[in-house]
Amino acid sequence: MIEDAQIIEWLLRYGYLPKEEALGAALTLQDNVVRDAVAHAQEFGFYPLNAICMLRHGRPLTSDGDIGPATRELFSLERCEVPDFGSMSGRGGGGSWPILCQKSGIKMFVDLTNCPVREAWPQILVDVVEAYRLMGLRVIQVNSLAECNVHVYWRSFFGGTIGLAEFNGRTCVDRVFCSMSMSYRGENRGLFKHEFGHNCNLNHTRGGTMNPYIIAEQHPRAFWTPGDPSYSTLVRYFDGIPVGEPGPGPGPGPGPGPVDPPPPPPLPTPEPRPRRPLLDWLWKWFST
Ligand SMILES: [Zn+2]
Repeated sequence: MIEDAQIIEWLLRYGYLPKEEALGAALTLQDNVVRDAVAHAQEFGFYPLNAICMLRHGRPLTSDGDIGPATRELFSLERCEVPDFGSMSGRGGGGSWPILCQKSGIKMFVDLTNCPVREAWPQILVDVVEAYRLMGLRVIQVNSLAECNVHVYWRSFFGGTIGLAEFNGRTCVDRVFCSMSMSYRGENRGLFKHEFGHNCNLNHTRGGTMNPYIIAEQHPRAFWTPGDPSYSTLVRYFDGIPVGEPGPGPGPGPGPGPVDPPPPPPLPTPEPRPRRPLLDWLWKWFST
């Protein structure tokens, strides 16, 4: 179970507790500033936490700043490493990729070296690229790191991090990374759609695709739905009008024809991670 000091660290890391609040202060979970931060995290984590409360206590969530067993579980969930609030989130401000590169195509280079879902990946890529194309952003796959805007790869992370991606600086020559955990056992379509969302300057939202726990309901084909909290931001960034041609079905996706990647090296063995029955249950809960 997560310790009190780790909860303070969690609140700082994900932007719920301003760093200046922790400077020189021996904060405890009883301090009002911490209780307020916990209540905020409970509210923002409503979807997973409410499900945990129903499972563990048979009652809905109360965002009261109290830390019971259910809230401790929330702080232990696997999640995206991008902060929910603070300096890293919100870097996109009022925009994303400039209109010129939106329409000619953001160049994406995918390094499959550590990909844990290599067989499923071509279809995942097609679905996610199509989801963004329908919102007005074209994505082209390229086969060299030197010419890409987005570098997609898998890596190992410490702790419960499942992904980390960089916000773009709103120029057509930006190169940002989109990294995913090679030991993530969840649904990689949702994870990739989420992390690429950060590359497009989307922040975390309370539910929908951009919720940091990536367990909310997803459209099975990855399409953005008008009910998603990020939908209106995407329309503002990319105009919401489909661009280019649909992808060719299973394969590398829209772009200047198929790209044959070099034969992948043997897949390294990911670090063992215990099964997470709670997450499995949450997946089922959200998908029924
Ligand atoms: Zn994220």
